[in-house]
Amino acid sequence: MSQPPLSIADALRQAQLQQLPRLDAQMLLLHVLGQSPRDRAWLLAHDDDLLDTATQARWEALCLRRLAGEPMAYLLGQREFFGLELQVDARVLDPRPDTEILVEWALELLPSLASSPAIADLGTGSGAIACAIAAHAPGAQVFACDASDDALAVARSNAEQLQLPVQFAHGCWLQAFAPATPRFDLIVSNPPYIRADDPHLQALMHEPLSALASGIDGLDDIRAIIAQAPAWLKPGGWLLLEHGYDQSEAVQALLRQQGFAAVQSRQDLASIARCTGGRWAASSPQLDPEQASIV
Ligand code: GLN
Repeated sequence: MSQPPLSIADALRQAQLQQLPRLDAQMLLLHVLGQSPRDRAWLLAHDDDLLDTATQARWEALCLRRLAGEPMAYLLGQREFFGLELQVDARVLDPRPDTEILVEWALELLPSLASSPAIADLGTGSGAIACAIAAHAPGAQVFACDASDDALAVARSNAEQLQLPVQFAHGCWLQAFAPATPRFDLIVSNPPYIRADDPHLQALMHEPLSALASGIDGLDDIRAIIAQAPAWLKPGGWLLLEHGYDQSEAVQALLRQQGFAAVQSRQDLASIARCTGGRWAASSPQLDPEQASIV
């Protein structure tokens, strides 16, 4: 015997019984109903509406995926980042609100940079950082790279959709860029930084491991970026990196060892030092970009 159709109120009650957070349940229900996931008032106004069989099946499938730990962004197919609506799926890291701190820091530096600065976002993933900077720094030349073709496809499509002029390159960190690319006034990156044996990775299994884990101490990619950056920065240019909750001292030390000046960290939304950066001092010896890979 088939079940009677569920009303919107019944569906939300059912989700609550399954321990799904209320906000997640509301957003998923709005999504299957073709409404804006932010329009929670719509649900109240349609409390008694009945779900048709197909909608109910899609809603139940999404609830199960959410209960299994899939990020909301993948289920909704989108994530808001720095006021931009990005399309995201399992090919890319789900952009975190804490990464907006890195964008804010980059934008704060703009007035001190050249009038049409060249800015690079390394390991761009969904394109979140590059698109946010391009949207708020119309005079800048924004470049972005990723080692994953899949991620680049997502990033390219986001930049296109948002009509933001980001130039993409495929490859590993700064080696992605052609030698003729201008030197950068600013390099930003949210690279993988979780220790390969960190138990937190278990909870992030729906996201690409290559965007999360980075060797035995989580610093392999940060070390590679810091080693390559001087050859690609203009004198006085900045390198800003997001990193793990316990890595600020290590990243500061790596930057100082490499010869960066004004090394400092910024806190995330939970007051944890989450981004660290420094300026490539004008007097530091400039390396030949061709030599960057052996630094
Ligand atoms: N901040 C993310 C997390 O810990 C990881 C992002 C990253 O590795 N770049 O969930």
